[in-house]
Amino acid sequence: MYNRIYNFSAGPATMPEPVLEEIRDEMLNYRGSGMCVMEMSHRSKVFQTIVDEAEQDLRDLMGIPDNYHVLFIQGGATLQFSMIPMNLLKNGVADYIITGSWSKKAYQEAKKFGKINVLASSEDKNFSYIPDCSDLPVDPEADYVYICENETIHGTTYQTLPNTKGKILVADQSSMFLSKPCNVSDYGMIYAGVQKNVGPAGMVIAIIRKDLIRDDLGDKLPVYMNYKTHADSGSMYNTPNCWAIYCCGKVFKYLKSIGGLEAMHKLNLEKAKVLYDFLDQSKLFRGTVEPEFRSLMNVPFVTPTKEQDADVVAATKAAGFDNLKGHKSVGGLRASIYNAMPKEGVVALVDFLKKYEAEHG
Ligand SMILES: *Cc1c(COP(=O)(O)O)cnc(C)c1O
Repeated sequence: MYNRIYNFSAGPATMPEPVLEEIRDEMLNYRGSGMCVMEMSHRSKVFQTIVDEAEQDLRDLMGIPDNYHVLFIQGGATLQFSMIPMNLLKNGVADYIITGSWSKKAYQEAKKFGKINVLASSEDKNFSYIPDCSDLPVDPEADYVYICENETIHGTTYQTLPNTKGKILVADQSSMFLSKPCNVSDYGMIYAGVQKNVGPAGMVIAIIRKDLIRDDLGDKLPVYMNYKTHADSGSMYNTPNCWAIYCCGKVFKYLKSIGGLEAMHKLNLEKAKVLYDFLDQSKLFRGTVEPEFRSLMNVPFVTPTKEQDADVVAATKAAGFDNLKGHKSVGGLRASIYNAMPKEGVVALVDFLKKYEAEHG
């Protein structure tokens, strides 16, 4: 009825259909309130319930311990590139591991605020792998070690977290958030722009250990840039992104209903295997990431030529698979197969690529 297609966009990205249907049904009158959530005061009881439930459902899903805040902040993931150094630098030193475009951007921003070391990098091979992080020369003065746990553009992911030698770990999980179980206590802070794997764009969820919130920054930072502002006000210092909170809350409930992150992970492993198995036996298509470090969420791949890459992108689009063009820094194609991409979508794509190969290989 709605003529929806398989959307492989890296973000904003596809959302679970049952969630979109629920949102549609509540659009004109949210549960007897007589209004849409978009029209509702963020100070109302109805909306407070929406926020409280969203936070609680996320805590249940991830098993977030009580000594962590869950904050809903605007400015996307990008604003965190600045907020993190502004709030977490005490000694003025931090170590960054650079594995792709997003960790590099975060590093370049952090450099404005202190002495930022590149602890390791995979730039030598166009970010097609994750460096060995088991025994890196962590700066004894470092206030934190920073990673991007899943590089959305390059399609790499960490199999094991870096050995930070006692320093706190800060992780950008934007493109893998809620894709598998996560032991929150391994991190000082986790954050994720929600438009990749959860909801609409324009909001970040920051999960931050309570002892990292500082009392001494009130006079030094713009009020919005201080984590304490958000922690003290329950993410309601100013008008929050009410719509995104509402939609994310729905996705959390949906994930709980299908069995939580264990079940989601199992499905994500199955989906990724369908695509990687195809790429590994194909004579036309080739995955660009070293197998050990392949992302379950973002799968970049190429044909032998740029011309053929473009031809495949056009052919897939004509066949009802959208947003498969790779990012310009990697080229080729990229299939983002986030939580909300059904397995049938991946199977249908692989069937199409097989057919294309048979006809053009
Ligand atoms: C998309 C993305 C960002 C940037 O998110 P915005 O919300 O657009 O600021 C940062 N990090 C990663 C890993 C991303 O995938």
